[in-house]
Amino acid sequence: MSNRVGLRWITDDAAEHESFRPEHAVGPYLTVSESDIDSFNDAFSDEIDSDFASSICCCDVCFDDFRDHWPDVPFRRMEFQTQSMGVFYAVENTRLTGVWSPAEISTLRHFVRCERCGEYVAGNIWIYEHTFSDVAAIESQIDELLTIGDETPFLMLEHEFARRVLAHLRIAVKQAGTLAAGTSLFRARTAASISSSGQYTGDLQAYAPPPTRLVVEGRFNHAGTPMLYFASSPEVASAEIGAPGEPCLIAELVTSRPLVFLDLVEIDEGDPGHELMAPLASSALLAAPRSGEGWLKKQYVFSRFVADCARAAGYDAIRYASTKRIDGANIVILVPPLRIEEIVSLAGIEQSVGLAASKRY
Ligand SMILES: [Zn+2]
Repeated sequence: MSNRVGLRWITDDAAEHESFRPEHAVGPYLTVSESDIDSFNDAFSDEIDSDFASSICCCDVCFDDFRDHWPDVPFRRMEFQTQSMGVFYAVENTRLTGVWSPAEISTLRHFVRCERCGEYVAGNIWIYEHTFSDVAAIESQIDELLTIGDETPFLMLEHEFARRVLAHLRIAVKQAGTLAAGTSLFRARTAASISSSGQYTGDLQAYAPPPTRLVVEGRFNHAGTPMLYFASSPEVASAEIGAPGEPCLIAELVTSRPLVFLDLVEIDEGDPGHELMAPLASSALLAAPRSGEGWLKKQYVFSRFVADCARAAGYDAIRYASTKRIDGANIVILVPPLRIEEIVSLAGIEQSVGLAASKRY
């Protein structure tokens, strides 16, 4: 906080290189020094912390970069979506207006620093706190892993973060949750796709994975290796097929045996692997939307690496957040038997239409 006493002049006689004034700004302002700006930013951070128990996570300048690293956060986190505001509004709604004079506030509000990119914020700030620490270091690791995935994917295990994931899963599988037999899961197909492949909508086989030769790489499966992907609800299933408005069939499928699963949806702060798995689950390594909606193909390399680790560690399945519906989850069976009837039975079929994906922030 400032210890100055009395009024300040509208202009001061500080040397040019020691004084700052807002660029392109209209209105009364004072020239301020670097230390004025620093103490104002310290006080502003304290106010944000006291009002929101949080901090500035990005600004207009670095929003895209933030979203590219953490696609799950703007998509799913309500506090991120609701705690964005113009920086002037944010300043005016703190107690700082009772500490600095109006002319000082008029100047200093142009010098709020984004804690992420270090730029002076010209428009909006977003206030959000990840549940894990060392965010900047993890972002560097995300970049490194995406590059390895793009250039030399078979060398993934040379990276320390990747090695930690494998080591963690080998231990965590011993305390992993189990999806009980008798759980309802859902799979949708468009009516057109079922009929063009010569199948019957009432037949369980119509909801099996495609033949091996047609299987391309997916979020968790390698090309040519079919895996069964299920949705947690009919709505998620009909959004996941990516055919909004098209007639589709949604099958309710009931599991016939317990499945030990890796949970990437609910990762409690007290969980031993929280500092590793929470950033992983909300990052571009796992939660990037499909091609055409964001980052391209390399998004699937690390998620397939995680599937390999989970499979090797002894998991039967992975539960992960839907990138289509903000309230949805999916389950992928890592080691499906060759026949779908060995893992689920058909409980019902509903005629529906494909749903649009939830809006991405
Ligand atoms: Zn920024």
